[in-house]
Amino acid sequence: MPPEKIDPPVPAVPAFHIMTKPIGSICNLDCKYCYYLEKEQLYPTRENFRMADQVLEESVRQTIQSQAAPEISFAWQGGEPTLLGVDFFRKAVELQRRYADGKKVSNALQTNGLLLDDEWGAFLSENQFLVGLSIDGPRELHDRYRVDKGGQPTFDRVLRGLEFLKKHQTEFNTLTVVNRANSQHPLAVYRFLKEIGSGYLQFIPLVERKADRAAKGLGLDFAEPPLAGHWSPSAPVTAWSVESRQYGEFLVQIFDDWVRHDVGRYFVQIFDVKEQFCSNISVAKQDFCSNIMDAKQDFCSNICGAKQDFCSNIWSAMQDFCSNILGARQDFCSNILDAKQEFCSNILGAKQDFCSNILGAKQDFCSNILDAKQDFCSNILGAKQDFCSTILGVKQDF
Ligand code: SF4
Repeated sequence: MPPEKIDPPVPAVPAFHIMTKPIGSICNLDCKYCYYLEKEQLYPTRENFRMADQVLEESVRQTIQSQAAPEISFAWQGGEPTLLGVDFFRKAVELQRRYADGKKVSNALQTNGLLLDDEWGAFLSENQFLVGLSIDGPRELHDRYRVDKGGQPTFDRVLRGLEFLKKHQTEFNTLTVVNRANSQHPLAVYRFLKEIGSGYLQFIPLVERKADRAAKGLGLDFAEPPLAGHWSPSAPVTAWSVESRQYGEFLVQIFDDWVRHDVGRYFVQIFDVKEQFCSNISVAKQDFCSNIMDAKQDFCSNICGAKQDFCSNIWSAMQDFCSNILGARQDFCSNILDAKQEFCSNILGAKQDFCSNILGAKQDFCSNILDAKQDFCSNILGAKQDFCSTILGVKQDF
């Protein structure tokens, strides 16, 4: 059944590092100190440890989409990842391009080098893989523990694989397991690694604990590493584990040689980490000073700004005040003027009304007098006519 598609967490986190082991603990070597080979026993029913195509696709898609960073790094490890064949990684690169969505994708591959050939060299170079080659030093030190399934030495085959990387100008570095044997010969190991062309050297201390009861119960030869910060019953380390003091001596001797001759030419991871740490401290210090300086500038700038704002506000208030006074004065004069005009207009209106009323009354009075006179005259005339008519009537009767 195909695996269910699981959406990435939303929102994506800024960045994280993930190590992919696409063939689990399966390897073509049988290094005596390898703690990982026996982990195959934890999956007793499983026969095929090869990562399925659908799992590969989901892994690539989610690794890219879960990170908000502009560059996504893939780290391929084993077991031995080259056992998957070049086509598996062609598919991985094709999927990275499909899901990149504008992000830059980089790849690192850790290998024991035995299967490297022209095809691998060309592919790794074309696709700009950074290859980590596992090698423990000169022949006798490398072959002490790093042997194949038949117990045969692997030194020559590792160097043969390295030649293909060089031939195709593939970028590579070396990973050296510092164990009980090679830790006695720090300068021989260091100079050998430089001779074979490694420009970036990683030294990993080998510290393995013999199986405790829990590990034996699972059929394992090695105990789990103790959990950080938790108490763990003591367990003796294996005979090939590097002793603590010797590991320190190993690093000190290489450091003394490196610091006199090789700074800037060869990079030793553990020394560069220290340099990076010091550099980070220095940067943090600069950032701190810069922040203090910025804060001071901001403070002064704010004070200056506040002062300017204050003066500007006072000035505006003053202008507003003067403007208001002026406006009020203008309003006052204008109101006085308006009131005067209204007053005069009212007086004029009243005078006109008065005159008009007087005139009307005079006209009414004259008209009434005239009417009364007319009525009087008319009545006199009427009475005179009535009198004459009456006299005439009496005269006629008489
Ligand atoms: S090459 Fe690595 S994985 Fe393979 S046996 Fe050696 S240590 Fe183990």
